[in-house]
Amino acid sequence: MPSVRNVLVVGGGAAGYAAAIVFARDGAAVDLVEVKPDVTALGSGITVQGNALRVLRQLGVWDEVAAAGYAFNTVGLRAPDGTLLVEMQDARSGGPDLPATVGMYRPALARILAEAAAAAGAKLRYATTVDSLSQDGDGVDVTFSDGTSGGYDLVIGADGVRSQVRSLLGIELETKPTGMGIWRVFTSRPASVTRTDLCYHGACYIAGYCPTGEDSLYAYLVEDVQDRTHLTPAERLAVMRELAAGYHGPWDDIRDRMTDPGTINYARFESHLLPPPWNRGRVVLIGDAVHTCPPTLAQGAAIALEDAVVLADVLLAADVIDQSAFDAFTARRYDRAKTVVEASVQLGQWLLDGVEGDVPGLMGKVFGLVSQPA
Ligand SMILES: Cc1cc2nc3c(=O)[nH]c(=O)nc-3n(C[C@H](O)[C@H](O)[C@H](O)COP(=O)(O)OP(=O)(O)OC[C@H]3O[C@@H](n4cnc5c(N)ncnc54)[C@H](O)[C@@H]3O)c2cc1C
Repeated sequence: MPSVRNVLVVGGGAAGYAAAIVFARDGAAVDLVEVKPDVTALGSGITVQGNALRVLRQLGVWDEVAAAGYAFNTVGLRAPDGTLLVEMQDARSGGPDLPATVGMYRPALARILAEAAAAAGAKLRYATTVDSLSQDGDGVDVTFSDGTSGGYDLVIGADGVRSQVRSLLGIELETKPTGMGIWRVFTSRPASVTRTDLCYHGACYIAGYCPTGEDSLYAYLVEDVQDRTHLTPAERLAVMRELAAGYHGPWDDIRDRMTDPGTINYARFESHLLPPPWNRGRVVLIGDAVHTCPPTLAQGAAIALEDAVVLADVLLAADVIDQSAFDAFTARRYDRAKTVVEASVQLGQWLLDGVEGDVPGLMGKVFGLVSQPA
């Protein structure tokens, strides 16, 4: 009989839903609380790499993901004038029977995962968070923002980069800006965009796009980070259009579609990595709560998903939930997460420094690693 029968997951992102699915499928009673009011909160696109797809298949949602997203196996490098410089086979890090990459609309991925978690028996509660945690050797008592309370064998903090669970545990972790900011637009897909193309020259450090479905894509421009908070939605659109004006080829088609200020998003690149242990007693952190990185390798969600299934793999096989079980979990996760975080930061730093780094070598190292099952 597994010793985890009653689980609270805090946070309905990739890591949290994945954890809810695996523990609920095993027969545990799972509650998931998400602070946002619903699963369909606004979002941009996401580039889902093969190793993430491998986890999504393990979670039983691959058919839904394939139907909702846009799969491709090559990546292009372009000059600012649109000239295609190189077309490369992309690493199939989930194995040869999965595509290298699937582009998706983030809320579509979230909905698929949430539905799978609910179908597995997890109870999902939105607009709810955790107010307090107290634990002894046998379990964790939790009070919630809606005035209710509960007792659990295990609490999983999957509540993202500014994790409240991490704060409640008294864990200090400095999240550092990397120096870059990213403009993203989510819009309709022109026929000229059938995979990700990247441009590392021109007005921005990176100009790229990713199809997210037959009718949609997201496109992004990476600049020196700056305070863009004072801009009105119309001004944000104007700035992104201006930055995009130096890019051609498929960018000309994308720019024509950049007309709705509501589809423009600006975010800063940040990083942090928590050294092990990732637990305090029976409360454990996974995903961005413990490792976050700029999306230069598009691996953040992948390693967050992996955390969830490895945690379940280790804890559900353990006879007792003690520190050795949590140590076995981080032993399988820490070096892999560290490699991804450090490489993601390094790729951005080379661009910031104007240094011609060994990009193929570093990418080869990371994709060689994440191609191995987690
Ligand atoms: C600009 C940008 C682009 C990116 N692009 C990619 C990409 O293309 N591919 C990729 O793999 N990764 C990408 N990433 C990284 C990826 O988004 C994250 O690594 C991934 O979402 C982490 O998943 P998570 O479940 O750990 O956290 P999150 O996705 O952040 O989910 C955490 C959830 O917890 C909820 N929450 C927060 N606080 C509380 C609370 N107190 N109580 C309850 N719930 C709470 C949040 O609302 C959220 O739903 C990108 C990141 C950025 C910043």
